Amino acid sequence: MILPILKYGHPMLRQKGARIERITPEVVKLIDDMLETMRAATGIGLAAQQVGHALQLTVLDVRGVKDRPSTLERVGQPADVDAAMPLVLINPQVTPAGPSVPGPEGCLSFPEIFEEISRPETVEVTALNRDGQTFSFKAGGLLARAVQHEADHLNGILFIDRMALKDKQALKPTLEELQAATKAALSQQGGGAK
Ligand code: ZN
Repeated sequence: MILPILKYGHPMLRQKGARIERITPEVVKLIDDMLETMRAATGIGLAAQQVGHALQLTVLDVRGVKDRPSTLERVGQPADVDAAMPLVLINPQVTPAGPSVPGPEGCLSFPEIFEEISRPETVEVTALNRDGQTFSFKAGGLLARAVQHEADHLNGILFIDRMALKDKQALKPTLEELQAATKAALSQQGGGAK
């Protein structure tokens, strides 16, 4: 089932996700719905907060992007990126490493907004997969960027928080418009805007 993606201004996007203690059928269904929703939106990552759940859960799939390479290592060995996709990360521990590199970034909760964001060039990740098994990997390139972007979502952090101040200033009218539209839609629905 394709889920509605919450936009900037929705309070859920600022909530820190709770750890998932048990992979219930509801969690499995949410994972499947998130994968379907991400594909439908042609995104490379989606966090649970973006579909209304404050949980430590994100899905990623960088296969569609050919012009911005990703690297993957498992147990110290280079691994095939495409074969590892889609990635389901439950309760991920993400450790960024290396110098910060700028790169273009967008977010499904901020339609049509793209900006250069600086982030460390690699990440080490340990997480549970959808079967509840612990796995670890090291990523570089686009995948490292995407993992950091999604891990931020799980802590209520948005890419606008990582933007250079001048870029965020330049986007201010657009961001205010988006936030106002989201809040107006929420108050029409009633209830949601807590
Ligand atoms: Zn995002």
